[in-house]
Amino acid sequence: MKHSDDYSIDTKCQILNRDLSDKWGAISFPIYQSATFAHNGLGGSTGYDYTRMQNPTRQQLESVLAKLENGIDALAYSSGMAAVANVMELFKPGDHIIIDEDLYGGSIRLFDAINKKNGLEFTAINLSSEDVLEHIRPNTKAVYLETPTNPMMNVTDIEKLAAVAHGKGLLVIVDNTFLSPYFQNPLDLGADIVIHSGTKFLGGHHDTIGGFVVVKDEKIDERLRLIYKTIGAGLAPFDSWLILRGIRTLSVRMDRAQENAIKLAEYLKKNRHVTRVIYPGLPEHPGYEIMKKQARGFGAMLTFEVDDSSFAKEILNNVELIYFAESLGGTETLITYPITQTHAEVPKALLEKNGITDRILRLSVGIEGIEDLIAEFDRVFEKAEKAVSGN
Ligand SMILES: *Cc1c(COP(=O)(O)O)cnc(C)c1O
Repeated sequence: MKHSDDYSIDTKCQILNRDLSDKWGAISFPIYQSATFAHNGLGGSTGYDYTRMQNPTRQQLESVLAKLENGIDALAYSSGMAAVANVMELFKPGDHIIIDEDLYGGSIRLFDAINKKNGLEFTAINLSSEDVLEHIRPNTKAVYLETPTNPMMNVTDIEKLAAVAHGKGLLVIVDNTFLSPYFQNPLDLGADIVIHSGTKFLGGHHDTIGGFVVVKDEKIDERLRLIYKTIGAGLAPFDSWLILRGIRTLSVRMDRAQENAIKLAEYLKKNRHVTRVIYPGLPEHPGYEIMKKQARGFGAMLTFEVDDSSFAKEILNNVELIYFAESLGGTETLITYPITQTHAEVPKALLEKNGITDRILRLSVGIEGIEDLIAEFDRVFEKAEKAVSGN
């Protein structure tokens, strides 16, 4: 059999799942639902001792992620937030980290409510437009970002940022959840650490919570493995299996969801109540050219702004096919209201600066028939219009 590196990513998603050592020829990797593992006498560990540290199903998933992101190792966690929290344990009191100001709300809450208490310092800037050099201090250790950002879809040039950051000895940490490894590989662009919420596109079915950290440096890996086994936020065997299963269809799901997203973006642009459509796959998006350079696709996340907050609320009140729910990256289309959901706890001043108002809605586009999604929006817009005008 060819080496896995010689296959396309679509094929990798299939073959990496295999367990060539399985004596029964199982095509689906087994779920090793065992907390502990027996030793064949003193010094006779099978390589698996205790599931907090290692588990064969989870390890299979970790090796798949490491290969999809071109890292040397991946660590699977019980959630995306557990992954972010564990990465923050690499730092010590007094360390300073430059973060993008438009991040997943849970990450902002972690930095503000927990990491600051433990002595870490943060500066939030717009990494897509501001110069990171102006914010570097003697104690700055890392830059932390998402691209495109959540929910405002700002795009940062990872290669350019990594060159500047590495010139100052900083680590570059990229949360790659929005695009998944199918569309973007930050380690190849110079990032040192990649984070994923496995709950989203990797799992892909809104049925499990998980997270990943992928690294390319042995020392960082060693340190993270120590934190990992000590803190104990590893992903459970069954959830590891669910994400392994999700990854087998990653390529077709991402392609289809993106195709739908492009069509929906064009559709939404034509509605007179829609004042802005923010999708990095639209040529007028300021990050379009960078996306074309550093990613293989634009993803399926789309943010739009309507002319009135009551119109936004009526959209949420009237969706039927589309779910009004938090989260993203599954086969079903979800609509999210960042101001009361994902970003409810983000400081007001920051929301205002980023333009996250009560007129902003976020879509995670799924793989339904596009004609049905458009019919849904036709119906929802009509109802919202009636409700707002009082007829
Ligand atoms: C959802 C999400 C997270 C957190 O992941 P959980 O699995 O919900 O803990 C982190 N970053 C981004 C960009 C996300 O969308």
